[in-house]
Formats: sequence, C-alpha cells, structure tokens
Amino acid sequence: MLHLNLNKEVLFGSVTVGVVFVTGYLFGKKEVPRMSISKSHTAGQNNPLMQYVLNHSLREHPVLKKLRLRTMEDPRNIMMVACEQSQFMANLAKLIQAKKAIEIGVYTGYNTLNVALALPEDGVVVACDISEEFTNIAKPFWKEAGVEQKIDLRIQPALKTLDDLLSSGQAETFDFVFIDADKSNYDNYYEKSLQLLRKGGIIAIDNVLWGGQVLNPSPGDADTVAIDKLNKKLHRDLRVTLSMLTVGDGLTLAVKL
Ligand code: SAM
Ligand code: CA
Repeated sequence: MLHLNLNKEVLFGSVTVGVVFVTGYLFGKKEVPRMSISKSHTAGQNNPLMQYVLNHSLREHPVLKKLRLRTMEDPRNIMMVACEQSQFMANLAKLIQAKKAIEIGVYTGYNTLNVALALPEDGVVVACDISEEFTNIAKPFWKEAGVEQKIDLRIQPALKTLDDLLSSGQAETFDFVFIDADKSNYDNYYEKSLQLLRKGGIIAIDNVLWGGQVLNPSPGDADTVAIDKLNKKLHRDLRVTLSMLTVGDGLTLAVKL
C-alpha cells in the first residue's frame, strides 16, 4: 500500500502547478529559484494549493518516499525532480505502455526509480549520469524496490551513451526519454533522443521555464540561452506534437510523429 501521510512529508517534497520555479545545481550550475511555479520540495512547500494537490493525488511508493527523504539530506536537493511531476511522467510511461526509457541526468535516482516501477518486468531504463557520488545514493533504493535489474546505469557523458545506443542499432526502439542534465546540451540530447524514439514515443524536457529566466535571457547566460533556443525550435518542429506544461520548473512534452 502506498504511503499517503502527506501533511508532514509534503514539507519535503512534491508538486507544482501554475507558477514558475527551478531546479538544482548542474555540476556547479545552480538551478536558481526566481519566478516561481514551484516544486513541492522547494518554494511550493509553503503553497496551500500545492499541498492540496499533493494531499489529493500523490501516491508515493514507500521506497520512493525513503529516497526522497534521503535526497533531502543532500545539499543539492533542489536538483531533484518534483515528486508530483515524477508521478505524472511515470503515469505517462504506463499510458503509452513503455518498455524502454532513458533518463538523461539521474542525480539520486528518484525519477529513474519511478519510471522503472512503471515499466513491465522486462522493461529497461538507461540511466545516464557522470557522477558516481550522486548515483551511489540511488543504488540501494533501486535494489530495495526490486527494480535494479531494470536500470542500466551508465556513468559517462550522456551524449556518449546516446551515441552508443544509436551505434548499437537501437534507433527508434525507445518509448520515453526524460532530459534533465546539463542545459547547454539540451538540443543535442533532444536530437539524439528523437532518433532513439519510436513513433508515438515521448520526450519530456525539464526546466523549460528556468525559473522565469527564459522571459529575458541575458546573452552571457549560456544555460538560459540554450533552453530558450530549444523552446523556440520546438515550437516550430513538425516532427513532434507539443505541450509545454507549467508543472515544476516547466516541462515540455514532445510526441514523435
Ligand atoms: N532527473 C533527476 C531526478 O529525478 O531527480 C535530477 C537530475 S539533476 C537536475 C542533473 C544531473 O545531471 C546531475 O546528477 C548531474 O551529475 C548530471 N549531469 C550533468 N552533466 C551531465 C552530462 N554531461 N552527462 C550526464 N549527466 C550529466
Ligand atoms: Ca530538473
């Protein structure tokens, strides 16, 4: 049975609806909260409406809850995906009957675990990160939840992993990709993910509002410029259908045509 004692827990972590916010550090690069929609475990924790959303929708697997609480002990926990957003993506993966997924940017593995739980027994999440330190936090929780065999963790630059998948003949075989690593590579991640995705597969792109900074990208801010450029490109991209959601720090869903 899922643990739904949210009033206390919500202080640590979940939803976002309607405003703009942001996410953690990307290896020294902070996802700085400015204009906020807000993640539940950051500014959103003081928002009564968000608490209502959590109290009436969050169904967190007990091991996900443990991992979230462990992640809250880490000083870089602003990087963690909002749990309401993660639950939504796991639902999406189920909806499209995903078997093969990719997580680009794992951190402590909360979303990787959520997606792995949503996949069938023979499903796989290729989990891409460059940090042993972060992903070592994830591993015991993946094991405890009984899904470690579904998670193929690759510690190397995500672009290399995506290239490896392409060169091993896995183009057009993936169902779901979550892009959530270094922002300057977002366009590269998107293009390679699109090649790896089957028709009807979904690419979810995180932090597309970047704390509101996309409203006024300063030319010297490479991350904001990269996100804004990709947002503009996606709006015109006829290879996909599109939605930009105001959950968390902004989440774009691109469905491959
Ligand atoms: N999706 C995660 C979750 O569910 O909580 C959060 C990911 S966090 C925002 C970004 C992660 O990207 C960090 O763990 C960082 O180590 C990783 N990262 C940064 N640059 C990378 C790169 N070039 N290749 C792979 N991972 C990278
Ligand atoms: Ca993020």
